[in-house]
Parts: sequence; C-alpha cells; structure tokens
Amino acid sequence: MDILKTIELSKTYGKGETQVEALKNVDIAIGEGEFVAVVGPSGSGKSTLLHLLGGLDRPTSGKVIVDGVDIYSLSEKELSIFRRRKIGFIFQFYNLIPVLSAEENITLPLLLDRKDVDQKYLGELMEILGLKDRKYHYPNQLSGGQQQRVSIGRALAYKPAIIFADEPTGNLDSKNSKEVLELLRFSVQKYNQTLVMITHDLEIASQADRVITIEDGMIARNREVRR
Ligand code: ADP
Ligand code: ADP
Repeated sequence: MDILKTIELSKTYGKGETQVEALKNVDIAIGEGEFVAVVGPSGSGKSTLLHLLGGLDRPTSGKVIVDGVDIYSLSEKELSIFRRRKIGFIFQFYNLIPVLSAEENITLPLLLDRKDVDQKYLGELMEILGLKDRKYHYPNQLSGGQQQRVSIGRALAYKPAIIFADEPTGNLDSKNSKEVLELLRFSVQKYNQTLVMITHDLEIASQADRVITIEDGMIARNREVRR
C-alpha cells in the first residue's frame, strides 16, 4: 500500500519578477516501510517537496495523500495534530529548544498532546540514542552528534508512521553521520516506518530502497536500488 502519494503537486513562491515555480506537477507514490532518498542540485525543490509531503506548508495546487488522508483538506488545527502523531521531522539544524533538557526535548510532542510518556519505550529510545547519561543536559551542553540524536529522539517519540529527514547528517562528521544513519535505519526496521531523506551523500543514497532525483522542480529520475 502507498502510505504517501502526491497528485500533480505544484508550489509557486512569490509573484511577478520574483516568482519561482519550485515544484511542477509532481506525482510520486511511496510504499509503507520504504526508505527513499531524495537527491538533486541545490535549489531544485527537494526541501519544498519534503515540507509539502509532511504538511508543513500548503501547495499552490495538487494533493498530498498520507495514509489515505488528503492532508491539505484538513483545517490548520487538524493538520497540526495529524503531523504530530503521524510524522517525525529531522532537520539539518537540530531545532532543539534551548531551555529544555535532552529528555524534555524528546518528550515534548507527547506533552503538547497531554499524552502519557511510555517510560519503557523512552528508556529504550534513550539507550539506542546513546543519551542515557545525557537526559538532564541542555542542548548547549551536548556535542553536535548528541544534539542530532536528541532531535531524532523527538522525531521518534510518537513512533511516527513516516519520518522526513532534511540533510540529517549535513553538519556531522563521517563517524557521527554513520551512527545517525544506523540509528534511523534501526528504528525504521523495528517499527516498519517509512523514511524519506534528502541527502547529498551518495553513500547514504546507495543504502536507500529508492532514489528520487529532482531537477528544476520535476522528477528527473525515480529508481529502485537493486541489491
Ligand atoms: P532544495 O531543497 O532542492 O535546495 P528548495 O525547495 O529549498 O530547493 O527551493 C526550490 C526553489 O524555491 C529555489 O529556487 C528557492 O530559491 C525557492 N524557494 C524556496 N523556498 C522559498 C521561499 N520561502 N520563498 C521564495 N522562494 C523560495
Ligand atoms: P563528539 O565526539 O560527539 O563531537 P565532543 O568532543 O564535542 O563530542 O564532546 C565530548 C563530550 O563533551 C560530549 O559527551 C559532550 O556531552 C560534552 N560536551 C561538549 N560540549 C559541552 C559543553 N559546552 N558543556 C558540557 N559538556 C559538553
């Protein structure tokens, strides 16, 4: 089953002389449990696509269907609840809240929904993330790799069906990049999550089930990786 689908998805920014057609009639379908790498030159529309797939922005035209739901037919409020429960986001710049500890940053999505934190899962997550002895540290007391692990923890807290990652290893050295990727793949396999990742790293892309290449706002290639 396709967990993620777009129908003639388009996004235009600005108007007049500054108008940019960032995405042009994009049709893609992504299956449950797939790991998809999105590659392409800078400015080709990768982040725009990821943001639209994840309900962070609104398309100019076209649809995004997530798990059978036409997400842009939802109200702002419904969309934000849907996003929090179904989708995990990981960014290149970790976007952590500086006044919250590592553990508080991770459990924030649940607290915002007044949901109980599953202590067993949280413990397991902190263990996998290698943050067991960093629970009470604040972001500025953590290394870059640790901060990215916290942001991964926050994305995984709800056991989301889909994880979107925008250059998650872009700021990390090769050792930390490898670890972060392994972590993500571990979670994805364990919970049958779908992972869509923008990356410039061809070694990472080669580990994906499928590589989608975007050029000039269009799908230039869409290839399954054979093993
Ligand atoms: P990529 O992630 O592949 O680098 P983006 O999706 O960020 O590409 O950008 C695609 C195009 O849309 C670029 O030409 C960029 O300048 C433009 N763009 C992106 N975001 C905005 C925005 N908020 N306002 C205006 N133009 C934008
Ligand atoms: P890495 O190998 O992940 O890049 P660092 O060399 O940056 O790690 O940091 C080593 C250790 O020092 C980490 O465990 C981190 O928690 C701790 N640390 C880094 N920066 C600070 C800081 N500003 N305050 C407190 N502890 C820190």
